[in-house]
Amino acid sequence: SEERMLRSEKLSVIGQLAAGVAHEIRNPLTALKGFTQLLRAKYKDDSAYFDIMAGELDRINLIVNEFMTLAKPHWTPFRHLEFGGILQSVLSVLETQATLLNVEIECRIQEGLPAVYCNENQLKQVLLNIIKNAIEAMPDGGRVTIQVREAAYIAGPQLQISIQDEGPGMPEEIIRRLGEPFVTTKEKGTGLGLMVSTRIIETHQGTLHIRRGEVRGTIVEITLPLPNDDRAVQADDACGIARESA
Ligand code: ADP
Ligand code: MG
Repeated sequence: SEERMLRSEKLSVIGQLAAGVAHEIRNPLTALKGFTQLLRAKYKDDSAYFDIMAGELDRINLIVNEFMTLAKPHWTPFRHLEFGGILQSVLSVLETQATLLNVEIECRIQEGLPAVYCNENQLKQVLLNIIKNAIEAMPDGGRVTIQVREAAYIAGPQLQISIQDEGPGMPEEIIRRLGEPFVTTKEKGTGLGLMVSTRIIETHQGTLHIRRGEVRGTIVEITLPLPNDDRAVQADDACGIARESA
């Protein structure tokens, strides 16, 4: 639709801007962080102020990094990869945070899924952000349920990924403003994660939808196109050489 078109145009303009600006911000930021540490060592009594400065510098760094992701969707090449492996590596990163918050992560992955054509780092970014959001939505614990399966669509077979939490659900005003940057309800949030994720899934020709759970919680549903003939494409090996049969 026209509105959708406008939004993706807006995103690509933001992406181009980010490519230049983020890069320019990173170097002075590194210098600032280094000298803040030096000053902290010199003025030990006021170390609390330096901790705040270091924390804020980290925050700027986080925002810049998320913008860099947006700016360079083709940083690593697209390859045929097993989705299960990508998911596992993301879960291993989030394990500690989940355990601390008493959150259990349940995965139901259909067996024998074909490889998905994707940008590994970008897809990891998406999963990391969506699952992190789900964990953060349940500060008193709960369960994140991740389901992955193949589904037949008119446009062809799709990988269907659903990530559901038991949190309070997304606030209405946030849902209305999806796609806008810096929309966050978190003290340490950037409000960039969902926008970046949507953008990445769009570059994969997939879709990302968010809805409220029937009783509670939030459900994020992602689709990614799968090859039309399951047996035609196997996962690439570690060297990244595609083994596509005729
Ligand atoms: P951030 O996590 O940095 O705030 P995001 O773009 O990832 O930025 O999310 C934007 C906002 O959407 C969050 O601040 C939160 O209010 C809301 N949100 C995202 N995921 C969930 C979820 N699973 N449950 C409830 N609210 C959510
Ligand atoms: Mg987030």
